[in-house]
Amino acid sequence: MPTYEYGCYDCRKKVSIYQSYEDYGVVPVTCPRCGGKRLKRLISRVRIVRSEEARLDDLSDLDALGDIDENDPRSVARAMRRMSQEFDEELPPEFDEVVDRLESGQSPEEIEQSMPDLGGDLGGDDFDF
Ligand SMILES: [Zn+2]
Repeated sequence: MPTYEYGCYDCRKKVSIYQSYEDYGVVPVTCPRCGGKRLKRLISRVRIVRSEEARLDDLSDLDALGDIDENDPRSVARAMRRMSQEFDEELPPEFDEVVDRLESGQSPEEIEQSMPDLGGDLGGDDFDF
C-alpha cells in the first residue's frame, strides 16, 4: 500500500499515512498523532528522487530509471522528467523549477534551502479545505 505524506494543521507535524489507491482522495484521513482531521497532502519531488530505490519497486517497469546517478544533478533531472510522465498525480508548480535547477547543476540540498516550501513546510495559506 502506498504511503502518503500529510501535514497536520492541528499538531503541525508531518505524518505518513497508508492508504490504498482506492481510498486515496475518497476516505478522509486522520492524523495518527493527534487525531486531527485537518490534513494537507504534501508532495516533494526531491524526496521522491531520494527514495528512488523504494519507489522503483512500484515502477519496476521503468527500466530507463535504472541509470540515475544521484551525484549528478543533471542525471537526477532527467530521471525526474521521465518520472513526471509516469506519475498520474498532479505535479506541483515547483516541479519544473526544481528540474531546471538540477539541470543547471544545483544539488537537491541547495534547491531545498532556496525553496523552503519544498519538503512539506506547512507555511502558507494554500490548504484546500
Ligand atoms: Zn496532528
